[in-house]
Amino acid sequence: MIVGLPKEIKKQEYRVALTPAGCEMIVKQGHGVVVERQAGEGSGFADAEYLDAGAGLVESAQEVWSTADLIVKVKEPLSEEFAFFREGQILFTYLHLAAAPDLAQALVNRRVTAIAYETIQAPNGSLPLLTPMSEVAGRMAVQEGAKYLEAFQGGRGVLLGGVPGVPPAEVIIIGGGIVGTNAAKMALGLGADVVVLEKSADRMRYLDDVFQGRLRTLTSNSYNIANAVRKADLLIGAVLVPGARAPRLVTEEMVKTMKKGAVIVDVAVDQGGSIATIDRATTHENPTYEKHGVIHYAVANMPGAVPRTSTLALTNVTIDYILQLADKGFEVSVQNNPMLALGVNACRGAITHPQVAEAVSLPY
Ligand code: NAD
Repeated sequence: MIVGLPKEIKKQEYRVALTPAGCEMIVKQGHGVVVERQAGEGSGFADAEYLDAGAGLVESAQEVWSTADLIVKVKEPLSEEFAFFREGQILFTYLHLAAAPDLAQALVNRRVTAIAYETIQAPNGSLPLLTPMSEVAGRMAVQEGAKYLEAFQGGRGVLLGGVPGVPPAEVIIIGGGIVGTNAAKMALGLGADVVVLEKSADRMRYLDDVFQGRLRTLTSNSYNIANAVRKADLLIGAVLVPGARAPRLVTEEMVKTMKKGAVIVDVAVDQGGSIATIDRATTHENPTYEKHGVIHYAVANMPGAVPRTSTLALTNVTIDYILQLADKGFEVSVQNNPMLALGVNACRGAITHPQVAEAVSLPY
């Protein structure tokens, strides 16, 4: 099979769907890889590294799409890429089709087989191809929070870890899943005082065991949230209710009680935000705004700031699926792998994922 790697064209997207290491693995299994020139540049991978790994370089996206049986990408195709779609071609990428009806229609019209990273699901309900991005965002939340707590960034001039004789900052994390756990790890590593508010008792038991008393867990209810928010130097929103908008757990009144120059990083902004005063998503170009004396950071694609780490983390979890598809073809791969089968969003001119079909009003 020929695997194709086009350069991402979405604004501010510097990740790439295959590293030279992944490329070498595919080539060693006896397949071909075609790479668009400079596809890896944004993540720090030079064309020469892909050539050394056994790939062929081509000048244009059109050449990649017209040659490859399996296209691997990071973001959903944009309208200028729709013309490249070919019947039977396999597309493997983050698709988020429910929010992209035009793309869904184009995939159906061109009878493309589209597999979405974000709907590949393990039997325990976890989403293994989203996990690495949550790990990145959770760790970054503390890094960004620490930066905006600095006085010259408008923050209250507090060092997360304090120093001997001076207390550390209070980091309050709401939601102790992948994002919350990774944020906790970073904040503890920097010496902050960390409290995690969680709804799930099992998750709190897990956090308590793993961190061995180095952080405190608190049941998430509005009383505990209000008390914790008031004391926060850095407040991190990290909740998720699968399939639903993020619950608004921190009210505007609670934000008004926060210390002047405190920082909110709402990682859940991509699901609508968990804090009432997060009324819009921000960008890496202009990441923060101030409300009630509190700095709000609400970037919806945090991993985009660290494309090299994010590319490596993403490709670590996609490569096995790519190898399966290349070795066994689409039909056998989805028959053998129920997790991969759940990723199939479009096939042979139909939408094959019930929630996506409902969202884009196309037949299932
Ligand atoms: P997760 O499912 O691993 O964790 C979510 C946690 O929230 C769970 O432990 C759950 O029990 C808890 N929770 C649910 N309701 C709660 C409540 N009322 N109070 C307290 N806790 C509650 O999800 P995740 O992977 O950690 O993702 C968290 C959020 O971060 C999601 O909205 C995700 O889309 C978002 N995210 C954003 C970015 C970004 O760049 N902004 C990147 C990755 C993930």
